[in-house]
Amino acid sequence: MQITVKLRLRDRHVADLNRQARAVNVVWNYCNERQRQAVRECRRWLSYPVLAALTAGTGSDLSLHSHTIQRVCRAYVEAHRMHKKPWLRWRGRRSLGWVPFNTGHVAFDGSAFTFRGVRYETMHLRDILAGATIGAGSFNADSRGRWYINLPVAVPEATSASIQHVGIDLGLKDLATLSTGEKIAPPCFYRASEQVLATAQRARKTKRVRAIHAKAADRRRDFLHQQSAKIVKTHGLIVVGDVNASTLAQTAMAKSVLDVGWSSFRAMLRYKARLRGGGACLEVSEYGSTQTCSACGSVPSSRPRGIAGLRERVWTCSDCGTVHDRDVNAARNILRLGQQTLGGGAHG
Ligand SMILES: [Zn+2]
Repeated sequence: MQITVKLRLRDRHVADLNRQARAVNVVWNYCNERQRQAVRECRRWLSYPVLAALTAGTGSDLSLHSHTIQRVCRAYVEAHRMHKKPWLRWRGRRSLGWVPFNTGHVAFDGSAFTFRGVRYETMHLRDILAGATIGAGSFNADSRGRWYINLPVAVPEATSASIQHVGIDLGLKDLATLSTGEKIAPPCFYRASEQVLATAQRARKTKRVRAIHAKAADRRRDFLHQQSAKIVKTHGLIVVGDVNASTLAQTAMAKSVLDVGWSSFRAMLRYKARLRGGGACLEVSEYGSTQTCSACGSVPSSRPRGIAGLRERVWTCSDCGTVHDRDVNAARNILRLGQQTLGGGAHG
């Protein structure tokens, strides 16, 4: 299986990549010009081998990798086929920067990506293994001129035999409770900096306020990355409840909800599980997960109910007598639901 990882590159590579992108545009526009000429002379559409032959040997003049030129020709033929126009739009200053590369020409040594002998460093480096096989991808700029590297990375297929399953209940008191009983305390970075923030706000120090917010967000993201990586490392199947922050955020709990970042956490679990290979992250409805007994499957009269039930951390099932930690019980129900979904999918 192959997935694409997108990483933001450090800004010091901007000039170099802008130069390559301009050279790529030259190649593209040359293909376009030859195509237009072919149309005028009533010849057939130019094929990839023709364009490749026309551009062969221009790599050193343009300071481009020869395979980059080939990828541009290929992309031109592909776009031409899709658009069904005699020729295509020219690439110019307003086109988003694009420098394609071919399979095996970008190497990763654990800290940076090497292409044409140049080391490209990224802002973050997460979950890519040194020496990983990198397919045909590209460097891409966004509309603000920031550059990214898009890397197709091969990940091993799932081996269901070696999979450890875990259910996760996302909450406010704890960020996450695992069906194994483990709990992850919520990061309260905004809360922690509230005092400092209030002082800065009163003093109308806009820059300082912005810096505090940015710092808290960074710390929270790092925390979520660490925690999700830990879970994915030891579990092949992760089932997580679909608790929705945007509905809760409208209530009085708003601040704590925004502080925990459930949706980012779920997104991280999802992509890390895929990246590790053999991993899967399922999202299931958490409806009823709190009120069902995970031991006997009944919905007993002693279950935690309503707003009052939110404060009930421990309860005893009146049907089978099992003593439950409210969140661990919910996580176990979520796990069971996920396993049923998978089982049903396999048979259906
Ligand atoms: Zn029970």
